[in-house]
Amino acid sequence: MDFTLPAAIAAKLAELDAFIAAEIAPLQAAHPQYFDHRREHARTDWDQDGRPRREWEALLAEMRRRADAAGHYRFALPKALGGQDGSNLAMAAIREHLAAKGLGLHNDLQNESSIVGNLPLVHILHRFGSAAQKALLEGMITGAVRVGFGLTEPAHGSDATWMDTTARRDGGDWIIEGVKRFNTGLHDATHDLVFARTAGKPGQAKGITAFLVPTGLPGFEVPMLWWTFNMPSDHAEVRLNGVRVPPEAIVHHEGEGLALAQYFVHENRIRQAASSLGVAQYCIDESVAYAKQRIVWGKPLSVNQAIQFPLAELHTEAEMVRNLVYKTALALDQRHHMQVSDRVSMCNYRANRLACEAADRAIQVHGGMGYTRHKPFEHIYRHHRRYRITEGAEEIQLRNVAGHLFGFLGGNRTG
Ligand SMILES: Cc1cc2nc3c(=O)[nH]c(=O)nc-3n(C[C@H](O)[C@H](O)[C@H](O)COP(=O)(O)OP(=O)(O)OC[C@H]3O[C@@H](n4cnc5c(N)ncnc54)[C@H](O)[C@@H]3O)c2cc1C
Repeated sequence: MDFTLPAAIAAKLAELDAFIAAEIAPLQAAHPQYFDHRREHARTDWDQDGRPRREWEALLAEMRRRADAAGHYRFALPKALGGQDGSNLAMAAIREHLAAKGLGLHNDLQNESSIVGNLPLVHILHRFGSAAQKALLEGMITGAVRVGFGLTEPAHGSDATWMDTTARRDGGDWIIEGVKRFNTGLHDATHDLVFARTAGKPGQAKGITAFLVPTGLPGFEVPMLWWTFNMPSDHAEVRLNGVRVPPEAIVHHEGEGLALAQYFVHENRIRQAASSLGVAQYCIDESVAYAKQRIVWGKPLSVNQAIQFPLAELHTEAEMVRNLVYKTALALDQRHHMQVSDRVSMCNYRANRLACEAADRAIQVHGGMGYTRHKPFEHIYRHHRRYRITEGAEEIQLRNVAGHLFGFLGGNRTG
């Protein structure tokens, strides 16, 4: 057993550091308002229902353009799409490394935007899409084509298999009826991957079909954005009022759409965990540094065990989570993702919880300054609090772990 990060991955991290210093840090320095205490206001167009300001999204697009030109953005994509087939292990190491640098243009997690793209929908269409759907892939990578993921509904989130959205045949076409909630990116998406029941009963996984729906079609409406803990918001309500699509809109097979959703969350859950781990380590390291230089009662704050011990515990937890994330990412590279889904769930809920606890502790160690927006911890806390809900909430991850532990979802896989 060797716990050393492979040399090629370590070299990639060094390469990314050099790229950030040369091309991203100067761009960030020219636009400080998006990263300092003004960040929430600078990023949010309050008069346009709280959506991201165009200038902020343009800056993110320029970051991605530079990263793509330098050969980093497509790292995790298949070679056929100009990528490098980056492994799950490499992506875990990269996501952790970038998040551990703190808030910055190199890795803006609030927008899931990074110099190394995390593009699960590109993977999905590349793997499951028809030739016509694959023709959209290059645009999806460059940002010309923007696709949302419409699974959650007002009455169903964790229990998505109970969804109310339906699609029925009408001649050769399909007519979609329903409402989707928290459909991220639908403030300016060109397409939405809409999940609808086409057969079967509520609760059944089979019978749900995924449709790639152009957002400009008649009956496709975006009435509002949900304002969230961290703003801006691109988390839309979507109404599908009899939206007519041809059979070519189906991605993968009729009735088999849930396989796509499972693929999506597995890609995202482990990467989210790695990011949460990195940001937790950032909060810990910043707190240690601050406690060493802050003088309270005539002594460095750091001499107090009440300051040291909570940080020592978080540091220990981070090391445990790191080993689990790397081990699971390696297993994902070697086995089918459904064979390690309980491990992915373990990583996800522990890492996301750790990020929130570390950000909260960092606020405490920094005292009044920690509570201000001049420090990044409130932003980190508010963003990562979301991760405890979105890729399947914490309870849903635990349900998956327990399902294998108790044998309801197949054997106990520990070991
Ligand atoms: C910022 C944001 C972005 C999002 N983006 C998207 C997106 O792009 N596309 C999309 O489809 N969805 C998106 N979502 C929706 C997200 O996936 C759901 O909110 C999530 O799956 C939880 O569903 P719910 O909100 O309906 O909660 P519910 O399913 O109603 O659950 C409520 C609470 O009960 C818990 N719970 C549920 N079942 C059990 C149980 N059996 N035992 C114990 N506890 C249980 C849940 O964990 C949760 O804490 C987003 C949500 C947010 C907040």
